[in-house]
Amino acid sequence: MRDNAFEARQEKLREKMRDGKLDAFVVSSAANVRYLVGFTGSNGMLLALPNRTVFFTDPRYQFQAAQEVSCAVRVATGPLLARIISVLRRAKSRRVGFESSRMSFEGYQFLKENLPMRASLEPVAGWIEQFRMVKSADEIACIRRSVEANSKAFEEAVKRIRPGMRETDLAAEVDYRVRGQGAEGPAFETIVASGERSALPHARPTSAALRSNALLLVDMGATLDGYASDMTRMLFLGRPGARVKQVYNAVLEAQLAAIDAVRPGRTAHAVDRAARQTLAGFGLDRAFMHSTGHGLGLEIHEPPRLGRKDKTKLEKGMTVTIEPGIYLQGFGGIRIEDTVVVTANGCEVLTPTAKELRTI
Ligand code: ZN
Ligand code: ZN
Repeated sequence: MRDNAFEARQEKLREKMRDGKLDAFVVSSAANVRYLVGFTGSNGMLLALPNRTVFFTDPRYQFQAAQEVSCAVRVATGPLLARIISVLRRAKSRRVGFESSRMSFEGYQFLKENLPMRASLEPVAGWIEQFRMVKSADEIACIRRSVEANSKAFEEAVKRIRPGMRETDLAAEVDYRVRGQGAEGPAFETIVASGERSALPHARPTSAALRSNALLLVDMGATLDGYASDMTRMLFLGRPGARVKQVYNAVLEAQLAAIDAVRPGRTAHAVDRAARQTLAGFGLDRAFMHSTGHGLGLEIHEPPRLGRKDKTKLEKGMTVTIEPGIYLQGFGGIRIEDTVVVTANGCEVLTPTAKELRTI
């Protein structure tokens, strides 16, 4: 990201603070801090004031902060919040916002106990997350690279599948290949689920061997230059029977219908409905128990949620996953997931990996 991109984001936050009548705002979420000033380390907080932004970190990050951060840096030897309080005092801030869904209870209590007498704490949720929903061209380029690295890693890992291999072996192979593609690491814990275990939407890989004549679900993502990708593909070890093919096609149709529904101005829940209605046509809608997708970017799960209740209107530049799935006990689960970006008149599927049920 260019430095002026960070400044523009900080200015947008100041504008929001003026509207919300805040004269200070403490940003504690690592992803939000990174978004606003570019810091990639793990311990950093921001204080946004009406005329400037100050970044706080500990001595381990002194040099990194000097290189990365695009605003004033304060290196604190004690708790970051204690330094923030002293700046708040000097600035005579009165209405101090904090991220109510991100700050720890301990952090909140510390602020409350140490805030100057006449200052008040104002809970704020989702402001920066809202900004982050629509990605810039630079961010979309990052996500595209992340998606491509992830798909390449998938192809490499699939080639290593051998009889007797355990789910954990394949997950380790996936993680290794993801890093091999230049990613910082997997964007979340890789899911490898064989046979009936694929019916658990968030299955953890186990030491069970990959089963033959069974479904194999692989859900994987990369974090590259800070940006996440997310993809699910299905394999079949052997020859799939008629029922597997039938259910697979139903999920694929639902996924294509949802992709088709993505365009600026559409609500998030309309995309979800498109997938659900298609599955209903096959009598499978009740076996689909999660939402159709989620935003992704600096974090693997970001707004909007493509679910029944989310009324967010899609906008050009949003990046979301499309991942309907069905889960049937005794049969297994089938999910197909791509990462897409909303364009001026629809969407572009970034994931290049073919979507047929792959047999091995
Ligand atoms: Zn996924
Ligand atoms: Zn996902």
